[in-house]
Amino acid sequence: MPRPILASISISALQHNLAVAKKHAAGAKAWAVVKANAYGHGLRRAMQAFAEADGLALVEVDYAVQLREWGWRKPILLLEGFFDASDLPLLVQHDIQFAVHCKEQIAMLEAGPREAQYDVHLKMNSGMNRLGFKPDAYRAAYEQLKAMPSVRSITMMTHFANADDAGNPDLPFAEQIKRFNDATAGLSGQRSVCNSAGDLLHEEFAFDWVRPGVMLYGATPGGGSAQDFGLKPAMTLESRIIGIQHIVAGDAVGYGSRFVADKRMTIGVVACGYADGYPRHAPNGTPVVVDGVRTVTVGRVSMDMLVVDLSHVPDSGVGSKVMLWGADLSIDEVAFAAGTIGYELMCALAARVAVKET
Ligand code: PLP
Repeated sequence: MPRPILASISISALQHNLAVAKKHAAGAKAWAVVKANAYGHGLRRAMQAFAEADGLALVEVDYAVQLREWGWRKPILLLEGFFDASDLPLLVQHDIQFAVHCKEQIAMLEAGPREAQYDVHLKMNSGMNRLGFKPDAYRAAYEQLKAMPSVRSITMMTHFANADDAGNPDLPFAEQIKRFNDATAGLSGQRSVCNSAGDLLHEEFAFDWVRPGVMLYGATPGGGSAQDFGLKPAMTLESRIIGIQHIVAGDAVGYGSRFVADKRMTIGVVACGYADGYPRHAPNGTPVVVDGVRTVTVGRVSMDMLVVDLSHVPDSGVGSKVMLWGADLSIDEVAFAAGTIGYELMCALAARVAVKET
């Protein structure tokens, strides 16, 4: 009998969420973002579930090639581009498109084979200050690529820091859009700017391609709850109670004695810890669902176990089902309690956790 922890991935939820993304995209095509093992959901599984996507986007060169080997025939995009000139022949061989975000990459393309044909996505740093050419350097980079016989197409792209919060005073979404629009005015080619938050909240900027990621997995990118956007949770993480303790006022629980009971309590030990991907920083009071009843964690999360309060779940015992997040408990709520975001919890799902498709 394996450890009782199991992640269930709902294929219909993945398909539904893609349909939501496409509906918001106002006719634009959709790259389904599947980096980081499809945000922890399994790359091959996501590839099959996202058959209706217009392309798949990721950052791992080897997995991009793997997608071709698994039979994905539609476009593939590397969001961070290539990392070394030696990657280029493989990308050409497998018809993989890539971002170009710095002058060093352009130099590698210029030095590369003339007969190659590249579909490049010229990335603008419109304010996030991660990857990309600043607006005042963008046009020159565009012209340089345009003049290269090996460049077949140039898509103009940028990425938003605050698409979920248009009112952010430090870098308003509107300011990034303005810089992008100004710097690309009159340039020919397709445009792509929206991540999940952009797709859900700013349909007017869908342009030619949107690039939804986290929303496809049923978590919110911010700016509202996933449920309000009509998204369905794709990953449910469940385990079981493997031990029970009865404690009295003054008894402490777990490493560092971070929880001290102020009354008699029954607590349950759950086979799920940070080595499974549960956030170690989840404080006392992080929500869980035991046998369909909401309760909370007590004490520090350890490597293989965490502890929950069973005082209000009277019929529970060893073997009771515990949902850590998913169908009956939003991953966003758990993430919020733990001071993180749903993205991180999904991606952190450990390889040792068995996965079942539903
Ligand atoms: N586009 C780019 C360039 C990204 O880096 C990402 C993810 O970070 C996405 C799209 C998808 O973002 P999200 O998961 O917020 O939809």
